[in-house]
Amino acid sequence: MNGEFDFLKENVERIREEMTRAAQTAGRRPEEILLCAACKTRTVEMVRASAALDIDLFGENHVQELVEKIDAGAYLGKPGHMIGHLQTNKVKQVVGRASLIQSLDSPRLLLALEKEAAKRSLIQDVLVEVNIGREESKTGISPEELWPFLEQAAAQPHIRVKGLMAIPPAALDEKESRGYFAAMRKLFEQADTLGYPNQSMEILSMGMSDDFSNAILEGATLVRVGTAIYGPRYYPPKK
Ligand SMILES: *Cc1c(COP(=O)(O)O)cnc(C)c1O
Repeated sequence: MNGEFDFLKENVERIREEMTRAAQTAGRRPEEILLCAACKTRTVEMVRASAALDIDLFGENHVQELVEKIDAGAYLGKPGHMIGHLQTNKVKQVVGRASLIQSLDSPRLLLALEKEAAKRSLIQDVLVEVNIGREESKTGISPEELWPFLEQAAAQPHIRVKGLMAIPPAALDEKESRGYFAAMRKLFEQADTLGYPNQSMEILSMGMSDDFSNAILEGATLVRVGTAIYGPRYYPPKK
């Protein structure tokens, strides 16, 4: 294919090279780290063009975009994850449709997901989003609340926790940024020792365009990259 989306191939190749380099530096196998394309605001055509490249899965922030892109076949059969805050009144459209909900961020949402998954007799895979920087402006479970929350999640028969997700503060420097990622990895390893039968710590989702190498150095198994693949996002001015 030749044309307007050629830049995507170069971008994905460059990101993969950086991912490989970071993995090797950390003594890890590059294959164990997934590339999630964070494609909020991108058109179906652009996402479909990117789906033919070396991207493992797609992450959406808005339910409407997830539904639209899955229905249009934009992911070319690759998995679609929910990575943005999910309102409880929208769980119906997401349960069973998103192969993983990365943004489980409250007990209220947990119960709404359990109810919907039970109604449909399916098991919904999720990650618990941790507010690792304890930021007022962000959703997520605080590090202290993680343990009771995982216990509560373990009691929900239709929910399977597969790991943790975080959006650390837009850090000021590399040391600080790596500190948050390292703290997440510590929680991830601790959570792995709990031994709840319907939980397995397989996925540690952290790192975006500006910091995915650092996240990989600290143990990320999935990075969510938007701008570095697709270019700057354009938000039309609000009327
Ligand atoms: C937009 C988004 C990303 C990707 O951000 P970029 O800086 O564009 O790479 C990752 N994770 C979440 C939850 C996002 O909303």
